[in-house]
Amino acid sequence: MLTAVVQFRQRLNGNKLLTYSHMTEHTKTDGLSAQAPAAATQDAETLSASQARVTGAVKIECNACPVLCQISPGRSGACDRYANQDGMLIRVDPVLVLNRTLKGVEPALVPFAPNASEEAWAGDLVHANDVFITGVGSSTTYPDYKPAPFIVGSQIDGVDMVTVVTEGIFSYCSLKVKIDTDRYLGPEQANVLCRGEVVGHVTTAEYGSQMLSLGGVHHLTGGSKKEGRITMEMMQALGNKEAAELSIEGGAQLVIQAGRAPIVNGVTEQRMRVGCGSAAIGIFAQQFFELADEVVVVDDHITGVLTEHQAGCCLNMRPSGISIRGRRSTPGRYFQVANPGTGWGGTDISDPLAIIEKWDSKRAWPGLRLLMTSTTGEHAAWFVLDQDLIPQQQEMPTAVQTVIDRIGENCEPSLTTVLFLGGAGGSLRAGVTDNPVLLTRAIKNALVNVTCGGAPAYVWPGGGITVMVDVLRMPDHSFGTVPTPAIVAPFEFSMRLEDFKNLGGHLAYVRPLDEVLRSGAWHADGAPTARQWVMQPTQNPWPLGQPPQLG
Ligand code: SF4
Repeated sequence: MLTAVVQFRQRLNGNKLLTYSHMTEHTKTDGLSAQAPAAATQDAETLSASQARVTGAVKIECNACPVLCQISPGRSGACDRYANQDGMLIRVDPVLVLNRTLKGVEPALVPFAPNASEEAWAGDLVHANDVFITGVGSSTTYPDYKPAPFIVGSQIDGVDMVTVVTEGIFSYCSLKVKIDTDRYLGPEQANVLCRGEVVGHVTTAEYGSQMLSLGGVHHLTGGSKKEGRITMEMMQALGNKEAAELSIEGGAQLVIQAGRAPIVNGVTEQRMRVGCGSAAIGIFAQQFFELADEVVVVDDHITGVLTEHQAGCCLNMRPSGISIRGRRSTPGRYFQVANPGTGWGGTDISDPLAIIEKWDSKRAWPGLRLLMTSTTGEHAAWFVLDQDLIPQQQEMPTAVQTVIDRIGENCEPSLTTVLFLGGAGGSLRAGVTDNPVLLTRAIKNALVNVTCGGAPAYVWPGGGITVMVDVLRMPDHSFGTVPTPAIVAPFEFSMRLEDFKNLGGHLAYVRPLDEVLRSGAWHADGAPTARQWVMQPTQNPWPLGQPPQLG
């Protein structure tokens, strides 16, 4: 019989207060929930017996992952995601439900099926157009032959839809971190360490940003146990929008957090550069014209020199006779003017004149006005050549300062961006269909919308289902861990019912939304305690928008 009251609060593990959600699996012999589809009953009873066994008088074995914790009553397993509540194995966190109807309302924890003693939620939860069950808190399909815990049928604009909802366990996953700064963080390929363990490396810098590749199967499984554990914890923290302290071999100390300014060697970064030195010359050439006779924009990658640059030539600027150190790429564009560092423009220099090799006495003239600036305008200095053609620093003219301020104004705030990259091409697919490659093909044919906690996921071309998602677009605390070690992440596959049938989906497990909300996962015997996450109007597209029909 369906258990209607499903919200439990109880102290577990000392002082930890846990809110129980749905009963994902259980030890009783009656197998499935009364709400389980008849066609599924036989399989599910068999599965139930192996999913959670009573291993002694009171302990339960959880096999939601290969660790197979033996959980005593009132205790949770090693990952804190499952617990033994009165002899039942339950998923500790509530299922997260997206609701787009309450625009402008702060996200709140809202129990869906509270105790009779608590005030019932009168929210508009059963309109399929406005409600989306996410994988956050949904429980997993492990061992993978099980259908996903939630396979939800709904009707959107007259079209029958199905969303397959699960939490995936990922050994193959990583974080790509973009750090908006010119500052040198460390050599490309250098190891990134967290609490003394190697957890990733510096990868190819992008335009105005330094990039890190963190986590991944090599660090999760290929090193020591400690390396795997610290890698996992670091990934969970960053995925859940928390801060992580990292150090780079031969480089900087970092504190990074998704959506926040990076802290490099204890200094909070402020500005992302307006462009490289050459781009800054091009953008501001006209504004420098007639205010200065020469402008040098110092940049670790491409330093720009106005009078030589095409922009200066187009303005008919008189050559200044300046010679810059480093390697000349094309007129007015120089590479390697100094070593990388945390000084001017991502170089190691603190005196900008250090990059000037000489002045051509036939071209330069006393009184020549020279502006030197970094790509963010954070460093800038004004010089005038004396009779011996030696630059003498003087106070910056107001009009020139205005252009420097304009450079600063055009710099965007320096931020850290964290993308989760995971391979859902493995056994996760068995939760959708008996013939997993058909799901892969359907995704590649754009018949399936893949989301992670309701956030849109970019699916990489090529084989498998390798997805990338911005953790800032996911609900808070979307990521969990299991000590194998691996990361737990929510996944949802939404498609037309017709396409679900065509890819051999687990049709017997499709249940209407209101039934899912009433009864919980198909292998549960209690409804979920749903946490509600309100979609803000400017956030993600609604996951149940119909995918385009190809061909
Ligand atoms: S680590 Fe978590 S999911 Fe794995 S067996 Fe233990 S309680 Fe279950």
